Amino acid sequence: MPRRVGRSITVRVPLLDLSAIHADLADDLIASLRSAIDSGSFIGGQEVEAFESEWAGYCEAAGAVGVANGTDALQLVLRAAGIGTGDEVITPAMTFVATVEAVRLAGADPVLVDVDERTGLLDLRAAAAAIGPRTAAIVPVHLWGQPVDMDAVSELASRHGLFVLEDAAQAHGARWRGKRAGSLGDAAGFSMYPGKNLGALGDAGAVTGNDPALLAKLRSISNHGRDSKHDHRLLGTNSRLDAIQAAFLRCKLPYLDRWNELRREHASAYRRAFSASRLVTAIEIADEAEAVYHHFVVRVAGRDQFAAKLQSKGISCGIHYPRAIHENTAFSDLARVGSLPAAERLTKEIISLPIGPELSERQIEAVSRALVEVC
Ligand SMILES: *Cc1c(COP(=O)(O)O)cnc(C)c1O
Repeated sequence: MPRRVGRSITVRVPLLDLSAIHADLADDLIASLRSAIDSGSFIGGQEVEAFESEWAGYCEAAGAVGVANGTDALQLVLRAAGIGTGDEVITPAMTFVATVEAVRLAGADPVLVDVDERTGLLDLRAAAAAIGPRTAAIVPVHLWGQPVDMDAVSELASRHGLFVLEDAAQAHGARWRGKRAGSLGDAAGFSMYPGKNLGALGDAGAVTGNDPALLAKLRSISNHGRDSKHDHRLLGTNSRLDAIQAAFLRCKLPYLDRWNELRREHASAYRRAFSASRLVTAIEIADEAEAVYHHFVVRVAGRDQFAAKLQSKGISCGIHYPRAIHENTAFSDLARVGSLPAAERLTKEIISLPIGPELSERQIEAVSRALVEVC
C-alpha cells in the first residue's frame, strides 16, 4: 500500500488520466455529440471539413485529410505517393510498431536503421548508409514528441530523390527551427488515438502536407478510391474520420498549445529534481527543437528496480518501448538481434514518467520528491 503516515498521505500519480483531461470539457463534448445527432451527418460533412482546415492551419501545412487512425494515415500516404512493391522505406528501429506496419501494409520493404543513443531518434548517418537503389522513402519519427533534425533529413532526401513522410503521431504541435511537425516533409501522418497529445474519444488520424494533388489522391484512396459518388478510379479502402470524432477534436484543439506548455513545465520540474543524480539521465533535446513531450523519457541503470521503487510511492511509469522493432516476432526477419545496438540498449534503460497536462501541482511535486528520494 503506497501510504505514508505522518507528514502526508501518498499522492497517487497514474501514467495518464484521460477522465481528468475531459472533466472540464464534458459539457462541450456532450454538446458536440448532440449537434452531430441533430445534424444526422456522421461520415464526412461540415465537422470533418472544418477540422481538416483547422488542423492544416495549426500545423502550418497547405492541407489536411482526416482518416480513421494513425496507422492508416502513414500507410495511405505511401500508397498515394506510389510507394509499394519493390520499394524500400527507411524507418528507425525504435518506434511504435505502427510505423513499420504501415510500410509493410503499403507493400513496401521496411529497412530498419539504428537510432542516436542520445536522442532516441533516427541516426541520420546510419540512414544515409542504408540508402540503396531501391530506396524510395524515409520515415523520420518524432518519437516522444521531439522533432527529428528535418533540415538534415530534407538534405539527405533531396540528394537521393526520396519521399519524406514524417511520423508525427507523437508530435502534435512540436517545432523544428520554428516550423511545425506536419509541415516539414512531403507529408505527415498523425494519430489522434485518445492518449496522444491531441486525442479523439476513439480512433482517429490525419495526414497533412503541402502537395494538393497528393492529398486529393489520398482522400480518394481513403474513400473507396472514389472520384465522385459512383466513379471508383483507384483501389481504395474505407478509412475516414468520423464526424463525431472530428467534432470532439475541434473541442479539444483550442487547448493543445496550453497542454503542450504544461507538459514542458512538468518536464522542467522533473529535470530539476534529478539534476544531481548520476543514476538518471534525460534524453537530449536539440536546441533547434521545441518538444511536446508525448512521453517524458529518462535513461536509468537498473530500470526495473527504479520503476518498482516509484510504484511503491504511488507513481506509475511506462516503457516506450521495451523492444526494438526487430525484437518483436512479427518483424524479426528485418534485422538480427545485436545489429542495431543503440536501439536495443535504449529499450532496456528507458522509462517514461507521468507528464500529462492533467497532472496537478501536488502530483508533480510528488513525482519530483520521489525522484529526489530514489535517485
Ligand atoms: C500511435 C502511433 C502510430 C499509430 O497510430 P494509431 O492511431 O494507433 O493507428 C504510429 N506511429 C507512432 C509513432 C505512434 O505513436
